[in-house]
Amino acid sequence: MSTDLCTLMRDPKMIPYVKQSLLSQIADQAASLGMPSYLVGGFVRDLLLKQPVNDYDIVVEGDAIKLGEALVKKFGGKLTPHYKFHTAIWHIPPLLNNERSRLDLITARTETYSQPGMLPTISPASIDDDLRRRDFTINAMAVRLDGDDFGALLDPLGGLDDLSKKLIRVLHPDSFIEDPTRIFRSVRYEQRYGFKITSQIGDKALETLSSLSGDRIRHEFDLILKEENSASMLARLYDLGIFGAFDPPLPGFNERYSDLLNAIPPVVFGVLGNRIVTGYLLWLIDSKVEAVASLAERLNFSSELRQISISAIQLKNDLPSLKSASPSLLTFKLEKIPLIVVYVLWLVSEETVLKEFLVRWRYVKQKTTGNDLKAYGLVPSPRFTEILTRLRAAWLDGEIVNDGDERELLESLL
Ligand code: ATP
Repeated sequence: MSTDLCTLMRDPKMIPYVKQSLLSQIADQAASLGMPSYLVGGFVRDLLLKQPVNDYDIVVEGDAIKLGEALVKKFGGKLTPHYKFHTAIWHIPPLLNNERSRLDLITARTETYSQPGMLPTISPASIDDDLRRRDFTINAMAVRLDGDDFGALLDPLGGLDDLSKKLIRVLHPDSFIEDPTRIFRSVRYEQRYGFKITSQIGDKALETLSSLSGDRIRHEFDLILKEENSASMLARLYDLGIFGAFDPPLPGFNERYSDLLNAIPPVVFGVLGNRIVTGYLLWLIDSKVEAVASLAERLNFSSELRQISISAIQLKNDLPSLKSASPSLLTFKLEKIPLIVVYVLWLVSEETVLKEFLVRWRYVKQKTTGNDLKAYGLVPSPRFTEILTRLRAAWLDGEIVNDGDERELLESLL
C-alpha cells in the first residue's frame, strides 16, 4: 500500500486541483493563526485505499471557530458555528470552489463518556488525543496539511497496518459499550471494503445498544440503506445478533430482495427513486402491520415513513384481490397511495397491473371537463364528480375508445 500521501494529495485524480488549492488556502490561514491543520478520518482511509474521497474533515489544534471566522473574513461565505462542539461549518463561496459547498472545521478534542450510550463531553486537545477518541484504527489517522510537514501521516494506533490487513479494530475494549452506534459503523466498513471485524461486540454493548434513542438507531440504518452493499450489511447485523438485541426483535431483511435495494425506477414509471425509503419498504413489506407500527415507534420514523411502510404492507396483502379488479377500480385505489409504495410492490411482485397503472392507467383521463357540463346547463354539484369519474372509468375499462363514444355515454348520463 502506497503511503506517499504527498503524491496522492497532489494527484488531481484523487483530489481535484480546485480542492487542493482550497485546502492549501485553509492550511495557510490556520498556520497564520498558529494552528496546525490536518485532514482526518475517512479522508485518510479512502485516500490510502485509493478510493474516491468525499469527506474533507479538517481538524485544527487550536480553535476551529476562530479559523472559520478568519476564512469568512478573507474569502467570504458563511459560518455556522457550534460552540458546544467547538466545530463550525464553512459555507464556501462558489468562487473558491466552483460550486456551492460546505466544509467541516473541527477543533482537535477529547471526548469523555459520563455513561455508556450517552453523548460525550468535549474538550479541546492535541491531534494525538483527537485520534484516540475515534472509532476504529483505520479511521484514526491524520495527514498534516500545513507547512513543510504537508502530507505527513499521523498514525499512532496502527491504522495503516490494519488497513493493509483489511481489519476493523476498535481502539479499546469498551469502545462498543461506550458508543454502540459503532457496531453499525463497523459492519458498514466491513461490508463496504470487504474487511473483517476483529473486535468482540459482547453482551454489554448489545444491552447498551437496545437503550439508544430511536433517532440514533434510525440514523445508522439510514446510512446503511444508502450504501451499495446494504443487503450484506443488514444480513451481517442480523447474524451478529443485533436485530435480536431489540425488544421486540427487529424483523430480518428478506434476502430475496437484496438486489432490489440497488434498483433504479425505469424512467417511464415517473417515480422519484429514494434509496432510503425504498430500502425501508423492502425491509418491512413482508412484516405484520403491528410489528411495523411498533418498529416505527421504536426508531421514531417520521409520520410519512410510518404511513407508507404500513400502506405497503396493506397493499401487498390486498394484491391477490386487486389483481382481478377492473383497471378503473385499481387505478382509483392506487391513486390514493404514494407512487413509491406502488413501485416497491411492483419490484417485489412484478405484478403487471401495477406496471400498467404506473406507466399508463394513471394518465388516462376523460375529455369532458366541468365547464363542458356547465355548458350542457348543469349546475355544479357532487354529481359533476360522479359523471366525470364514470367517464374516466369507461375509458380505463375500454368501454369507450374514442371521443364519439365518450359524447354518447355522457349524453346517456345527463
Ligand atoms: P464514511 O465514508 O462512512 O462517511 P467517515 O470516516 O467519513 O466515513 P463520518 O461518519 O463522516 O465517517 O465520521 C468522520 C470520522 O469521525 C470517522 O472517520 C471517525 O474517525 C470519527 N467518528 C465518526 N463517528 C464516530 C463514533 N461514533 N465514534 C468515534 N469516532 C467516530
